[in-house]
Amino acid sequence: MANIPAPVQNLIDAFSMLPGIGPRTASRLTFFLLKNNTDIAQKLSTALMNLKTETALCKECFNITLAGHDLCAICENDQRDQHELCVVETPMDVIVLEQSGGYFGKYHVLHGLLSPIEGINPEDIRLAPLFERVATGDYKEVIIATNPSMEGDATALYIRQRLEPYHVRITRLARGLPSGGELEYADQNTLLRALSGRQEM
Ligand SMILES: [Zn+2]
Repeated sequence: MANIPAPVQNLIDAFSMLPGIGPRTASRLTFFLLKNNTDIAQKLSTALMNLKTETALCKECFNITLAGHDLCAICENDQRDQHELCVVETPMDVIVLEQSGGYFGKYHVLHGLLSPIEGINPEDIRLAPLFERVATGDYKEVIIATNPSMEGDATALYIRQRLEPYHVRITRLARGLPSGGELEYADQNTLLRALSGRQEM
């Protein structure tokens, strides 16, 4: 686009990199911030700056926690079921499952899924620490809640194979989720059904 001053175009470009934001929405957001004379732009910029500097990954489950904390609030909470472990792809999945109100155990966040096509191998995601956690014998059940996609299924199968030597029940969320659908788009009832209908792998 011509005649747009660089600082404006830069923000439009930055918004356009976000998932689900096309060039039109990016422009709309940018011009909204430009003309808005309350402190939205200031709040947004502070929040963005702090997003990375004030957060860290939990050393046990790799969920998001506050910088300077070893553990996340869920790992620190001894009221949670200490024998159930739910394996998810992203920290966002933890939030979705927490909001469903149907799960009270602990989590393990992989930060990705296996994908031979994209060259994502077991060592590229947080699989080794998962196997270490299960090897302690602390868990009775591992619920694999990866998305019902090709990568989600491949990751689930790999985990099941690797956990074979341990005496642990391995289950997978029921196929109540929309096919190919992602956890984060499932409504509460669907999630609760998927949890309660989880099946042995
Ligand atoms: Zn944690």
